[in-house]
Amino acid sequence: MNNELLTERLLQVGFTITAQQIEAILEDASKDNVPYSEFLDTILKQEIHLLESNALERRINKAKLPYHKRIEDFDFSFQTSVSEKRIKEIMTCRFINNGDNILLLGPPGVGKTHIAIGLALEALNQGYTAYYTRCDDFITMCKRAEERGTINRLVNKLSKSNVLILDEMGYFPFDELSANLLFQIISKRYEEGSIIITSNKSYLEWGKIFGDDVLATAVLDRLLHHSTTFNMKGESYRLREKQKAGIQPLGVK
Ligand code: ADP
Ligand code: MG
Repeated sequence: MNNELLTERLLQVGFTITAQQIEAILEDASKDNVPYSEFLDTILKQEIHLLESNALERRINKAKLPYHKRIEDFDFSFQTSVSEKRIKEIMTCRFINNGDNILLLGPPGVGKTHIAIGLALEALNQGYTAYYTRCDDFITMCKRAEERGTINRLVNKLSKSNVLILDEMGYFPFDELSANLLFQIISKRYEEGSIIITSNKSYLEWGKIFGDDVLATAVLDRLLHHSTTFNMKGESYRLREKQKAGIQPLGVK
């Protein structure tokens, strides 16, 4: 059997690594007298590893995360209002199988987005799908979908991923269309997919975000039924970084 033909066949079945290294692989195997089963296993493991890392890359691209920061990069000794133990429990991703939601509430700079992204990255690594959007972008997406007649497609897209991250709820008010679509999405995902929400507003203020207390209550009712809330407090990490760099004098907020 000549190697060119072997390479062609390997490429036909998508065994790209083996195809690229066929000569060395065959040489090593015959030199070291590798048993057939071990030989096959080594090849398959390499190919499976490549398939998995390609799939992970695709999931990461589709998730549209604004940046990649992991929970391991989070300094729990600075942010003491969040229990590291509870976050580590959530990192097992059991919350996704249970369809539980995570709410991260608190003022700017306390690490809400970092934790949301860190949890999403962990979920992606474990094989789940995720989709990130800031709420102001969601509001724009809704308007555009209405203009283009693609509302159903948008609702389906945001209902599909295992984890939906809605960042910065409360900086901008929802209009009637986006509030209703959000309600549809939350209802569709209810007890099936998980939602991670970050917000600088307490639940009491959510009526104002939606311009409608009844809708806000219905949204909260579904979101909170199976959920974990983190009330994050403390200094802004962004300001601390500036203070350390001497840009912002200490004591000025
Ligand atoms: P928020 O979403 O609450 O406004 P972010 O998560 O965007 O805050 O945090 C602001 C910046 O500070 C980010 O770059 C984030 O990675 C970093 N940061 C915040 N808190 C911590 C922390 N406890 N440890 C490490 N980095 C942090
Ligand atoms: Mg944020």
